[in-house]
Amino acid sequence: MPERGIFYLCAMVKEDVLALVDQGLMLPLMEEFYTIQGEGFHKGTAAYFIRVGGCDVGCHWCDVKESWNAETHPPTGIDHIVTNAAKYSDTIVITGGEPLTWDMGPLTEALKAKNLKTHIETSGAYPLSGTWDWICLSPKKNKLPEGIIYDKAHELKMIVYNKHDFIFAEEQAAKTNKDCILYLQPEWSVRDKVVPWIVEYVMQNPKWKVSLQTHKYLNIP
Ligand code: SF4
Repeated sequence: MPERGIFYLCAMVKEDVLALVDQGLMLPLMEEFYTIQGEGFHKGTAAYFIRVGGCDVGCHWCDVKESWNAETHPPTGIDHIVTNAAKYSDTIVITGGEPLTWDMGPLTEALKAKNLKTHIETSGAYPLSGTWDWICLSPKKNKLPEGIIYDKAHELKMIVYNKHDFIFAEEQAAKTNKDCILYLQPEWSVRDKVVPWIVEYVMQNPKWKVSLQTHKYLNIP
């Protein structure tokens, strides 16, 4: 019967797509956009952002909760993603969601093959994959980073929502490599309360630097 035939065909196609996602050859693409990196060491730098869907870390203050369910974002071939990205910038930021939910190897290899710089923003909740020019590690209490990412991170970006987050930030900083740049960044929804805490803390503990979400002040994505 034709309807049953279509059902089997769809099931087969879905399995094929899932296999490609599993191999990192397709990724659930939520959005991609050319903008200015607003945070951390590279703030002010034009960059092309690729936001990959899927995250089960569950931060209650997350401002991209719509990224969490990977199934709501279309599986997209990495060739397509890379071709788009290369049109705009030589600096590509992979963000999420949690990009390390997926194998970042094929995507970063394809970006590097075009001489593009690969940056990642990750909580480190899953094993590090991919080849990176810049790793921004932003650990979350719900699901701590594991393995070598503390050794590899170029910057540690700790989000401050409450006063306990300073203790958590110090615990995480103690695990990073000696060259890792340390940032404290206010969670946006409580910035008015938290910014004075961070300013005072950084003056008392100058190994830390302040990071602001400057793209939000600039009203750009
Ligand atoms: S890790 Fe990032 S994307 Fe995931 S819930 Fe936390 S803030 Fe949101």
